[in-house]
Amino acid sequence: MPTRPRRGSHTVGRHGLVLGGGFAGMLAAHVLTPYVDRVTVVERDVPPDGPGPRRGVPQARHSHLLMGAGARTVEELLPGTLAAWSEAGAHLLSAPGEVAFLTKCGWLPRVRHKEYVVSCGRDPLDWVVRRRVLRDPRVRLLAHTEVEALLGDSARVSGARVVDRGTGRTTEIEADFVVTATGRSSRLESWWEDLGLPAVPHELVDAGTAYATRLFRPDPATHRATPGIVMIANVTGQATGGVLLPIQDGLWTATVIGMRGSEPPTGEDEFFDFAKRLPHPALAELIAEAVPQGPVRGFRRLANRRLRFDRVPRHPEGLVVLGDAACVLNPSHAHGMTVAAFGVAALRDGLRRYGNAPGVAGRVQRATSRAARTAWELSVSDDLRHPTVIGPRPSVATRLQNAYADRVLRTAVTDPAVARSLVDVIALARPTTSLGAPRVLAPALLGRARRPAPGGTGDPLVPRAD
Ligand SMILES: Cc1cc2nc3c(=O)[nH]c(=O)nc-3n(C[C@H](O)[C@H](O)[C@H](O)COP(=O)(O)OP(=O)(O)OC[C@H]3O[C@@H](n4cnc5c(N)ncnc54)[C@H](O)[C@@H]3O)c2cc1C
Repeated sequence: MPTRPRRGSHTVGRHGLVLGGGFAGMLAAHVLTPYVDRVTVVERDVPPDGPGPRRGVPQARHSHLLMGAGARTVEELLPGTLAAWSEAGAHLLSAPGEVAFLTKCGWLPRVRHKEYVVSCGRDPLDWVVRRRVLRDPRVRLLAHTEVEALLGDSARVSGARVVDRGTGRTTEIEADFVVTATGRSSRLESWWEDLGLPAVPHELVDAGTAYATRLFRPDPATHRATPGIVMIANVTGQATGGVLLPIQDGLWTATVIGMRGSEPPTGEDEFFDFAKRLPHPALAELIAEAVPQGPVRGFRRLANRRLRFDRVPRHPEGLVVLGDAACVLNPSHAHGMTVAAFGVAALRDGLRRYGNAPGVAGRVQRATSRAARTAWELSVSDDLRHPTVIGPRPSVATRLQNAYADRVLRTAVTDPAVARSLVDVIALARPTTSLGAPRVLAPALLGRARRPAPGGTGDPLVPRAD
């Protein structure tokens, strides 16, 4: 349960308001509780009383991996969540030991490592967090209620105007601190401008990534024995990729991915044909032996887009924007929830440190931007390689980084130590600069890489040696 702030820490006010009750919003509500008397979470959906689907998070139908760094951050913010996720059926997969990563040079060796990822359907992940946060009587969920605007002016945000989706009644909710976490469909930018603030500059990098996902039921022994499979389009050296992940209830979630010009279809036969043409046949061969569950679902327009709050001339007091509402990433790298959790941790740290001192919201906002930077750079530098990408021309620095990243990939497929270091970066556990450490730099530059053995030690269709 949340703790009261320690003596000497600050109080923000009486009422905290969180707009959007998704992954970032629920965690933010929890983080606010020590600093206000009560927190209201405004959510346009009526979230189910269980791990079921809901309209407001349509991406939940697609494969979601939570990186170890994100899972550890959530655990730190809301202790006990990892165990609760496991009870809900999540798999903690050691990476790269239990996750096969395909690169353009072959599979990473599936060696043991302390790093891990959480593999689970998105609905149970959200439900566990929601249930645990709402246990606190200081947090109230105002469901079936849509946020229409922010209250206040360009100097301070003082609440939100909301409309009850059942009755159509509009209400103004006053608050001392407002967190906007309305996700990828957020209207924050127009709310911001309605306060009389200049538009927030944004960046867009769009490689036209699209997903198609279907659930499958393999036989239980195969479910247990098969590693997660991650083939990130472009990292595979081609414009297509796919993932196959074990989730709750003995199911697999299988997603096929394509960049602009190679978008995956959503017809059932076409989905399977597309899977057969992926850079490696493992996914197609495995799902061919499993029983499909439900239809194929598509998702398009998976661009990277971030708001540059660090470039606004003035940030209003009392407002912080978190999660996808501030920074949306191409999901192929599976970093969105981790970045959302990092943002909530920055909120916690800012409140702990500065309480309601003037400028706290702007400081926290800039800290959340910094927390998202590595994930942004990883995703964007990769997408900028795509020939029809919409975005800036890659800088010389980006091209050099990409050339070095290719050398690291080439080395990692035969060098377990380099593979582990690479996975630490992929899992956002270490910064990209860690790939410049001598244990990676030397083998990568000296070209010690050997050709991977046929099938490679990481091939998911080949049992692991140890
Ligand atoms: C296809 C796909 C696959 C993905 N795969 C991964 C993955 O593998 N790993 C990963 O880490 N991330 C992944 N992501 C990203 C991840 O889903 C997001 O980063 C994450 O959901 C962000 O959390 P959030 O709280 O900001 O937004 P959400 O979880 O989307 O929550 C936003 C909430 O705000 C509510 N809302 C919106 N507007 C209003 C309004 N006006 N009034 C009231 N409520 C409102 C919505 O109903 C929703 O509940 C994927 C995304 C997509 C699209």
